[in-house]
Amino acid sequence: MLLDVSKLINAPGERMEFSFEMDLSDVDFGGLYPAQEPVVVTGAVRNTAGMLTLDFTAATVLKSVCDRCLKPFDNPKSVHCQYLLTEKLESEDSDDILELENGCVDVEDLARTAFIFEMDTKTLCSEDCKGICPGCGVDLNQGKCICKKQVDPRLAVLAQLLEKD
Ligand SMILES: [Zn+2]
Ligand SMILES: [Zn+2]
Repeated sequence: MLLDVSKLINAPGERMEFSFEMDLSDVDFGGLYPAQEPVVVTGAVRNTAGMLTLDFTAATVLKSVCDRCLKPFDNPKSVHCQYLLTEKLESEDSDDILELENGCVDVEDLARTAFIFEMDTKTLCSEDCKGICPGCGVDLNQGKCICKKQVDPRLAVLAQLLEKD
């Protein structure tokens, strides 16, 4: 979505609000497509003492899968960004200062890039998810491991050798 902020450039104290939805359902994160719900972007451009600032929040509920217990779960995700907008960029040094093109800024492109950049590489259904027992496959959040009493056969052999000594 191209936002025309040219009216704000010479209007200190003015602001312009915006809100739109993005479809990121075809964006692949490690073989999954978690952004099945629309990503809602809301924000504003403000002229504060002659400086234009853009800030927005991109939010959705991701359909994630827990890395530990493999359970699908609803994963609320929100990304907040802030930029300064300028008509003429004096140096290329800062990523937080954006140059306007004919008084416009492509908010959708910014929001899409920021949202994808902020995607977690690890997703857990909860911080203390206990995961799945590699031995018996029980979801340890829901039940107790049933393989604990069985000793690893290699260890059993070792135990026998030790007993002989
Ligand atoms: Zn989990
Ligand atoms: Zn087990």
